[in-house]
Amino acid sequence: MRGLWNAAGGLSCGFVKASPQAQLKLLELAELDTELSRLDHRRRTLPENAEFEAAQQRDTELRDELAALEARDSDLTRDQAKAERDVDQVRSRIERDRARLDAGQVSSPKELENLQSEIVSLERRQGDLEEVVLEVMERAEEVTRRSAALSAEQAELTGRRDEIAARRDAAFAEIDEQAGKARASRAAIAADLPADLLDLYDRLRAQHGVGAAALRNGRCEGCHLSLNTVDLGRIRGAPPDEVIRCEECRRILVREQNA
Ligand SMILES: [Zn+2]
Repeated sequence: MRGLWNAAGGLSCGFVKASPQAQLKLLELAELDTELSRLDHRRRTLPENAEFEAAQQRDTELRDELAALEARDSDLTRDQAKAERDVDQVRSRIERDRARLDAGQVSSPKELENLQSEIVSLERRQGDLEEVVLEVMERAEEVTRRSAALSAEQAELTGRRDEIAARRDAAFAEIDEQAGKARASRAAIAADLPADLLDLYDRLRAQHGVGAAALRNGRCEGCHLSLNTVDLGRIRGAPPDEVIRCEECRRILVREQNA
């Protein structure tokens, strides 16, 4: 329990001991870990990520809408064919009736009147059906126009998405390269540190983000807490291999020359 000060003292020491050189190495480790966190944050928050996501989402919307338009187009094609068949049927009946009239086959005035009135009504029916054909064709044209506009947007979007992906991947590659170097440096430093010190540092890092900070000019550089003279005196009096912790941020407090 040696070296453990109570909370009233403002500082506490762990059970780990390490040479001042090893402790100083923790600051390099902390710097690299900060760099790695920064790179990780940058990778996750690249504007290209959101841009790519938005482009993907729009692409999905376009696909859905184009599929719906295609279905609509085939419905309209079917409707048009049916309406055209109806027109043809009515037209043939009119022709048949006219032929009968022209051939003088109908002699009874009553029958003549019926036939003429049937032709009038069939012509009206033909007019209505032709209207239907025109309406269906107009709707089909509208569908074709809309599909063409969406397809053009889709082509433009695909190009833009590829361009965003290329920018994003270039940024990823740059970040990953920097992170790779930082990780290699970290591994080299970590390899030379005593296992218990590294373990403590890593545990603190997992809890607090950064595991160690310098005690510089009487201040913890991790949380910027200035230590009072009593605490500073205690730290100066502590053996150099004592691993000190900041009471405020719990990081390992590494004493530098002018601490
Ligand atoms: Zn602190």
